[in-house]
This record gives sequence, C-alpha cells and structure tokens, in this order.
Amino acid sequence: MTVEPDEASEADFDVIVIGGGVAGCVAAYQLAKAGRSVVLIERGAEPGAKNLSGGVFYSRVMEQVFPDFVTDAPVERRITRNVLSFLSPASSVNIDYWDERLASPVNAVTVLRARLDAWLSAQCEAAGVMVMPGVRVDALIMSGDQVVGVTAGEDELRAHVVIAADGVNSFIAQQAGIRAKEPMKHLAVGVKSVIRLPREVIEQRFHLTGDEGVAYAVVGDCTQSVAGGGFLYTNVDSVSIGVVLRLDDLAAKGLSSSEVHDHFLAHPAIAPFLADGELLEYGCHLTIEDGPQMVTHDLTRPGLLIVGDAAGFTLNTGLTIRGMDLAAGSAIAAATTANKALDTGDFSLASMEGYRAELGKTFVGADMKTYDRAPAFLENPLMYGEVGQLLSDVLYGVFNHDLTPRKHLIATALKALKKSPMTIIQMAKLAVAAVRAL
Ligand SMILES: Cc1cc2nc3c(=O)[nH]c(=O)nc-3n(C[C@H](O)[C@H](O)[C@H](O)COP(=O)(O)OP(=O)(O)OC[C@H]3O[C@@H](n4cnc5c(N)ncnc54)[C@H](O)[C@@H]3O)c2cc1C
Repeated sequence: MTVEPDEASEADFDVIVIGGGVAGCVAAYQLAKAGRSVVLIERGAEPGAKNLSGGVFYSRVMEQVFPDFVTDAPVERRITRNVLSFLSPASSVNIDYWDERLASPVNAVTVLRARLDAWLSAQCEAAGVMVMPGVRVDALIMSGDQVVGVTAGEDELRAHVVIAADGVNSFIAQQAGIRAKEPMKHLAVGVKSVIRLPREVIEQRFHLTGDEGVAYAVVGDCTQSVAGGGFLYTNVDSVSIGVVLRLDDLAAKGLSSSEVHDHFLAHPAIAPFLADGELLEYGCHLTIEDGPQMVTHDLTRPGLLIVGDAAGFTLNTGLTIRGMDLAAGSAIAAATTANKALDTGDFSLASMEGYRAELGKTFVGADMKTYDRAPAFLENPLMYGEVGQLLSDVLYGVFNHDLTPRKHLIATALKALKKSPMTIIQMAKLAVAAVRAL
C-alpha cells in the first residue's frame, strides 16, 4: 500500500516491531526502555506458540538486555557438557567434553520457546510495549521508497521505524525487495520432539547433577546420510531431540523428514536415553542452513530494519546451531540504530544503514564472517556416513580382542581406511577444510 507524504508523517508509534520471537521481543524491549512508544505485533495466538528451536541458547548476550537473565528467565538447564557424536548404523563414537568453567559464568542454557517467548513478551509489556498477539501483518505501507507503517487485516498502523523480526520466511523482507525466495540449499527443515522424563532419570542417564545440562550434536546415521545433523538437549524434566535436514538433499534422497526423525530416535545408541518417556510436543520448522550466504543482501530500507532469522542470522557449524543469540544481538544493534534515528528524526536509508555498522561492532557481524565457510564444509557428503563408520572401525580394531595378534594403531587405522570408500587424500582434505571452516 502506498500513501502520500503528508499522510505518512502521522505516526501512531515510534516503532512497529513485526514478530514476537527472540529478535522482536529484544528489539521492542530495548526501545521501550529507551522511552519510545512501541507496538509488537505477533501472529501467534500467544507469543512463542509458533516458534521452535532445538533449544541451546548461548545466553550471555541476553545479559546486556536482562542482567539477571539466567536466574529470572524460564531457563531449563545450564550446559556444562557438550558431546559430539558420530553415529553409524550399529555404533557411536563420542567426543565428550565437560568443563566446570562453562558453569560460571553461565555460557549456554536450554530453553523451551513457548515458555521463553511468553516471558520475553511479559517483559516487553512491563516495559510499556503494546503487545498485539493473534494479529498477522499483511503488508508494509510505503510513502515513495519510505516504509511508514503496516497493514493487518482492515487496520493500518503508522510508525517512524518498522523492525521486521518475522522469522525465516520473512515475507516482509521479500515484500521490501530485500530477499527473494531462498533456494532450497539455503534452508533446512527441523523436526523436534520434547519427551518428558522424571528429573532424577535424566540426571542418572546423562550423568548430571543439579541444574547442569548436556547438549549432543550428532552426525552420521541420524540423518540417514541426508546433509544435516541430530541434536539431543536436556531440560529440567524433559529432553529436546530432533534432526535438522538440508531441504535440497532431503528432496534428492526422497526421504520424509518425519521418517528420518523417527529413525534417529530409534537408533540403538539413542533409544535407551528416551526409554519410558512421554511425548509432550512434536513440531516442524524451517531453519537457515546457509546464513552467511543469505546475509549478503541488504538489511535496511528507509524506515525499515531487518533482524534475526528474517535477515538470515543463523549459524550451523555442525558443532553448534546458533540463531537465538544472533537474533538477540542483531535486535540490540537494530534498537540502537532506531534510537539514533528517532533522536535525529532522520529515517533515510543512510540513517538506517548505521545498523550494518552497529552489527559490525558486535559478535554478530564478526561471527557471520568467521564461519562463512562452514556451510560449504557441511556440504561434504563424507560427513554423513563414511567418517562415523571409519572412526568406529578404527576403534573396533583397537578394542575387539579376537585373539589375533595386536597391531599398532597406525596399522589398524590404515586397515580401516582401506575398507572405507574414503581415500587418505579425501580424509586429509576434509580435516583441513574442517580446521579452516569451524
Ligand atoms: C529444529 C531447529 C533447531 C534449532 N536449534 C537452535 C538452537 O539450539 N539454538 C539456537 O540458538 N537456535 C536454534 N535454532 C534457530 C532459532 O530457532 C532461530 O534462529 C530463532 O528462533 C530466530 O529468532 P527470530 O526471533 O528471528 O525468529 P522466530 O523465533 O522465528 O520468530 C519470528 C516471529 O514472527 C512471527 N511472525 C511471522 N510472520 C508474521 C507476520 N506476518 N505478522 C506477525 N507476526 C509474524 C512468528 O509467529 C514468530 O513468533 C533452531 C531452529 C530449528 C528450526
């Protein structure tokens, strides 16, 4: 919708934020705290109703917004153990890393989005944000090339700045001509279950005490050789478990995402963790596989800033899946930019482009550059089958005392490599690519 310039100047709010996920709530909260009038529009009947994350939140960025985030917010467990697990159909090889230093200061926590997003939205309301759940933004209102508001059904709302925090499918970014329809290669589908288990059972099965938690990043047979990975995270009295599958590869292999999810949960190394559990939630959501490629586009238009998944800020390195911390970091940068624009009354493109500079000062801009090779590295099909099998064959050679004379590790490794379809050169290349990309 387009309006004349004199109509455009009548703003109902300083800022309209579209989307009540992590990015939208953090942006809205920061701006309300700075004394701005803010409306947060969320299409879900309740904040968080439509949102899904695996659930490990690298949460230190939240302390810039809520200094007592870890104690006040509904977080589940504090992650002090990280396990990288290579699965083959009949084996698992784990790198199990526990570190007391990860407990203090708290580095990462598990969260359930329905609870977290409801809490974030309540903080926004307490700070003076007008939260409008159950309303879907349909379109931007333009005055020339300036974004001056949004339409939602019959309603029109005007503001000096609009912040699009509408997630991975951001139709606002598409409508503003910033993002085209993403190629399937840039996207993945996540399928996740939350399974209830008694607290003491979780602590016994995963060797945890108190509020400590563990995060498994799994590669190999969990995805039935589809590019992607599995995850398993402990909550207080449930586990979050699922798979993330690159869309193009899933389609090429002709598998369904729910079948791959079920295959992972039934794996003999995984099923015992879940035994006697009760399914609480099951959901599917798109996620970004190649964030660094997606963020090559613009992030602004006059009067418009794009944050979080809507902008492409997600990083999957195979070791970690990060989106929520980047959503929060980009929202802080956007709120700073919007505040400066409101101070000066300048909502031009040049003013909005200050956002890129703000991002560049933070871990968000830096990490998107540092990990720009990670998606290409994760395209290597060897990661999803041969590597796990090779590792387990080497260890089988070491631990299987079948009364044949023992061989040194190098001979055992070479024998396993001979059996593998992978060559030494391919393995060396993979190792070098991993060191460079991750
Ligand atoms: C399976 C899976 C596992 C993941 N695991 C992790 C993890 O462990 N750790 C991590 O940090 N990240 C993880 N991520 C990524 C993470 O979930 C996202 O990066 C994060 O949710 C982005 O936050 P956001 O606020 O930008 O978008 P979202 O959380 O998607 O929020 C967007 C909001 O906008 C609303 N909305 C959309 N369109 C409109 C509209 N037109 N009008 C009004 N409202 C609208 C939606 O309802 C939603 O509430 C995972 C993602 C998936 C799918």
